[in-house]
Amino acid sequence: MADAYKIIDHTYDAVVVGAGGAGLRATMGIANSGLKTACITKVFPTRSHTVAAQGGIAASLGNMGPDHWTWHMYDTVKGSDWLGDQDAIEYLVREAPAAVYELEHAGMPFSRTTEGKIYQRPFGGMMQNMGEGPPAQRTCAAADRTGHAMLHTLYQQSLKYDADFFIEYFALDLIMENGECRGVIALCMEDGTIHRFRAHNTVLATGGYGRCYFSATSAHTCTGDGNAMVLRAGLPLQDMEFVQFHPTGIYGAGVLITEGARGEGGYLTNSEGERFMERYAPSAKDLASRDVVSRSMAMEIREGRGVGKEKDHIFLHLDHIDAKVLHERLPGITETGKIFAGVDLTRQPLPVVPTVHYNMGGIPTNYHGEVVTLKDGNPDHVVPGLFAVGEAACVSVHGANRLGSNSLIDLVVFGRATGLRVADILKPGTPHNPLPKGSEEQALTRLDKFRHARGSSPTAEIRRNMQRTMQAHCAVFRTNELLAEGQTKIDAIAKSIDDVNVTDRSLIWNTDLVETLELDNLLDQAVVTMHSAANRHESRGAHVNEDYPDRDDANWMKHTVAWLGAGEAVKIDYRPVHNYTLTDDVEYIKPKKRVY
Ligand SMILES: Cc1cc2nc3c(=O)[nH]c(=O)nc-3n(C[C@H](O)[C@H](O)[C@H](O)COP(=O)(O)OP(=O)(O)OC[C@H]3O[C@@H](n4cnc5c(N)ncnc54)[C@H](O)[C@@H]3O)c2cc1C
Repeated sequence: MADAYKIIDHTYDAVVVGAGGAGLRATMGIANSGLKTACITKVFPTRSHTVAAQGGIAASLGNMGPDHWTWHMYDTVKGSDWLGDQDAIEYLVREAPAAVYELEHAGMPFSRTTEGKIYQRPFGGMMQNMGEGPPAQRTCAAADRTGHAMLHTLYQQSLKYDADFFIEYFALDLIMENGECRGVIALCMEDGTIHRFRAHNTVLATGGYGRCYFSATSAHTCTGDGNAMVLRAGLPLQDMEFVQFHPTGIYGAGVLITEGARGEGGYLTNSEGERFMERYAPSAKDLASRDVVSRSMAMEIREGRGVGKEKDHIFLHLDHIDAKVLHERLPGITETGKIFAGVDLTRQPLPVVPTVHYNMGGIPTNYHGEVVTLKDGNPDHVVPGLFAVGEAACVSVHGANRLGSNSLIDLVVFGRATGLRVADILKPGTPHNPLPKGSEEQALTRLDKFRHARGSSPTAEIRRNMQRTMQAHCAVFRTNELLAEGQTKIDAIAKSIDDVNVTDRSLIWNTDLVETLELDNLLDQAVVTMHSAANRHESRGAHVNEDYPDRDDANWMKHTVAWLGAGEAVKIDYRPVHNYTLTDDVEYIKPKKRVY
């Protein structure tokens, strides 16, 4: 039985957990329809990881050359290595231009062309003419601080709606009853009070879980708490084996250098000074998709052509680009290069290495944001009362590999779609049923267990073990042997949380406790990621198993869904890929070999 905690009850039509791009856009939409809405966030909204997005947001505006939504659709399907759901992808790319104009009208300070239109740059895998090329200028940018501009714009807008913000509240667990979501339990980190939110609809917009890995571009807060809450609710996560490595994290620091750097003309070289991407992707070269570039870099390093003393990284050149252009289009990374690599990139190359960047996998949803699960043979069973959006969700528009600049657009398009759906299915003033008895029990028992944990392993030590194991066994190159060893190791590390030592027992700003709760969440996702990867016997997108070097559409063109049971037992099943489009305006894009 848990300690006696002070529980404060709230009742809302809808509760959104997360105030990044996805959470804020969903909050705005729901509140705008007159529903009573709350938004809970563990960090101040404008500190969400969306703020760090650099390169831009994709939409076929055609401001700087020919473009069409069907070309964007083709590239996204191809980028996904045919694991993306084509109905959802059609929805994304068709809604994208309107979503960007909505941001523009809300005051987002985009960079401009000389005619005053929104500036658009080329990005990896974004092409004209159904993949035939040349590169399309499709990625709308505010210099190299697009996420910053976007998140601040959304936060300012969200204040004009009548939504209640619960800032620096840490969501602990969902309240579930008979397969339906009834709300969420959260801890107010400032004073240790427990808040029970009863809601007709709960939206998880909690972001990715990059921090499972040792070297990641994502913020330390990216611990996938919503994903872990879903696992604890007995629901599955989807396609967790697909983890994107961004080609250009700064060597050592892990800080991101946007793909926009290559979009503006940057290129990679090995120890022989060779522009090796010309060998791996003769047509798109340095602007091939991320999985392809990351793998090519890893190949060069493995074959002894890495740069530096340890020959373990690659050079990114921007030193040939006019300093004025760098100053105007890439001011942020010019500064980042100086601070984190000690490099003046107008004269010297930057040391870079593939770094964990994005999670294609997450909570399975349809294109309305409704969480779905496999139930009684129905692969699209909607979980009543539960939505997911943003990087936490797996819609799935990114499939096995996300194209750069397709995440920011995913946030606003599906954030909006979620708002529309909630408004559609729920009337303001709908009466609430009482919550089930003991609805706080699971969350508080877990909180209590960690708060009073007196084991022998500090949180940081278990976290380091997890991060090193994921980096060594579940990275750019995988083999059967590496993954099998990885499964044994990660299962043991996950169990070692039972021996964790938390030193602070207070409830006022107890960061020791919150970090431990986050670690527990990360461990569940690490286990599911490793087992899902070991289970997929093919290579597709970001998942490359050298023992199965080819994509196997006959056996593996399907989504992995994985549940986590007691004792970290992973159960795996599958959902079919939606190989149909939303409308007859575009044909199903048939699989073919993916070359750039
Ligand atoms: C360095 C970097 C650069 C990027 N650049 C680009 C780019 O140029 N273009 C592009 O398309 N994509 C880019 N991406 C990817 C993209 O930015 C992210 O996928 C996206 O911003 C995620 O948004 P989100 O709203 O889903 O989550 P986030 O922005 O991560 O927000 C998560 C929210 O959930 C809240 N939360 C989480 N857990 C809890 C909890 N337990 N209780 C309460 N609240 C909680 C947090 O407080 C936060 O508000 C980049 C990513 C990184 C890391």
